[in-house]
Parts: sequence; structure tokens; C-alpha cells
Amino acid sequence: MPETLRLSADPDGIARAAALLRAGGLVAFPTETVYGLGGDAADDRAVARIFEAKGRPRFNPLIAHVADLAMAERLAVFDDWARAVAAAFWPGPLTLVLPLRADAGLSPLVTAELPTVAIRLPAHPVAQALLRAFGGPLAAPSANPSGKVSPTRAEHVVEGLSGRIEAVVDGGACAVGVESTILGLDGAPALLRPGGVPVEALEALLGAIATGGDAKKPNAPGQLASHYAPGAAVRLNAVAVHPGEVRLGFGPGAADLNLSPAGDLVQAAANLFHMLRQADALAGPGGTIAVAPVPEAGLGRAINDRLRRAAAPRG
Ligand code: AMP
Ligand code: MG
Repeated sequence: MPETLRLSADPDGIARAAALLRAGGLVAFPTETVYGLGGDAADDRAVARIFEAKGRPRFNPLIAHVADLAMAERLAVFDDWARAVAAAFWPGPLTLVLPLRADAGLSPLVTAELPTVAIRLPAHPVAQALLRAFGGPLAAPSANPSGKVSPTRAEHVVEGLSGRIEAVVDGGACAVGVESTILGLDGAPALLRPGGVPVEALEALLGAIATGGDAKKPNAPGQLASHYAPGAAVRLNAVAVHPGEVRLGFGPGAADLNLSPAGDLVQAAANLFHMLRQADALAGPGGTIAVAPVPEAGLGRAINDRLRRAAAPRG
């Protein structure tokens, strides 16, 4: 990929950034918390590339950024409490976890197949301008390589991700510098991550808020019980196929379904969640899905992590 473009935060820069996003590109942009690494939240390939660019070893759920409440309500079910919180704190550094709408149209990589979606309406004028120009939700984790510090300046983004993303919109330094507060509102209010909005401010509106997720929440690594588990058995690193098995391929060779005939990990990640479901339907109850080996490198680590969860014994 060519060098990462540095775009100015003026109407021309915003228009170019929106065009890159519409073409499936990745564009980092400033929010009031940190720089986000944005991609079209409805585009499997763009979202897969976010994981690749960051070098994330796991498909954890991403926050969907929206331009306005109407866009948010197309993604999630808002009750009166959620509307009251949104009215009080949006735009701002607050992410709400709400029930996902069946017709939300998001890539399953954004929600990691959870029945909920994390949504934020940022206050930063450049983030808002970009979201309006793009016209749809942007999946955007922090714009840093996995395990590194979150970026609060365009230079930080370039240092970490240059050559891995199409562009960064330079909006200067971020004001808050810490991540958004994440509030779970899919049940009793729960603080899933402290951040830019103090919990006391939320409690003034909602009353006492439980801290920390529960076992059903994915905010701690490994707590992915709500992930879709195939009904069929899953056999990993299957070099040969046994009679009656459904072959989920990777790379050249005969297969019922192929994550990527060309052996492209981004394509495989983009197809993974859809094809696991298709393979499960083909295999039927009592059947087996034989998954071809996927290299344990780059995005392959996240793919294999998801496949191992699919293959794990279930009680
Ligand atoms: P980041 O990667 O910095 O954007 O952080 C995203 C955070 O949002 C992570 O802590 C995720 O676990 C959390 N998150 C995203 N979607 C959900 C969800 N549906 N339920 C609970 N937490 C979520
Ligand atoms: Mg981060």
C-alpha cells in the first residue's frame, strides 16, 4: 500500500476522507477522546482490515460511531432510559451498549456476533463532519497498533500505522485523551469501562451503577460465551476431508465453502463469521465441519482464535 495520506481537517480533506471510506479504505480521524481508526461498519472487508492494521490477535467487538441519534436508532433498540442518557451526554465521550437491531446492517465483525452493539456519537467537529459526509456508521477502535498507547495526535497515528491505512485526518491534539466511558444499557445499567464521562455524572441521572461487566459481557478477554457456536462439530487443521464432512477451505483446493481461495487472510476474516454459519447449515445436526489450516500469523491469529472457540467442546 502507498504511504498513508495526511489530510487536512477542512471540507476538501473531509470529502477525500469520506470517499476513501466509501471505497472500503481505512481513515484515522480525531475524536475528543483519542484518534479513531475508521472503516465502513457495514463492509466486512473494511472491518477485517481494521483488525489487520492494528495487528489484533482477537475479534473483539468495535464501537460504531454515528453522526446523529437517528443513525444510532437504526443500529440499536433505544428505550426511554437510553434516550434520556443519549439526550444528556451525546455528543460526547460516552459509548452505550444496547440491543442490536436485527436490521442494523453491520458487519458481524463489528459486534463479534453479540446481540448488542456499542455506539458512540462523538463531539469532535472533525469526527462529526466526517461521519456526516460518509453518511453511515464507522467502526473505529483507537488508531494504534494492538498493545500500544492510544494516539492523541495525527503524528502518533502515522508513527504506529503508516503504510497500513489509507489516510489520517489531522485535527490537532485530542482534548480528553482518555477513552470513552462504556455504559451497558442492555440490562441494568453497568459501567463496562471508565472513561471521559465520570460515572458520578451518569449516576446523577440513572442512580447507582454496577461496576465491571458480568460473565456474559465480552469486555474481558476470553469472556466470549455469547459467540455463535456451530451446532456441527468443528475439526481444525483438517488436511484431508473424511466422507460426509463439510469442507471449509482456505487457499487453493476443493472445498464446499472457501474462506479465501487465494489464501488472503483479510478476505478470510471478512468471510469467517458468515461462512461458519453457512457451513453449519450444510453440515446439519450431528455433522462435522473440516476446516483447512490457516496460518498462525497476522490476521490468521484472530481467525484461529475464533475457529478454536467454534471447535471448543460445549457443555
Ligand atoms: P476500543 O477497541 O478501544 O474501541 O474499545 C472498544 C471497547 O468496547 C472494548 O472494551 C469492547 O469490549 C467494548 N465493546 C464493544 N462492543 C461491545 C458490546 N457489544 N458489549 C460490551 N462491550 C463492548
Ligand atoms: Mg484501544
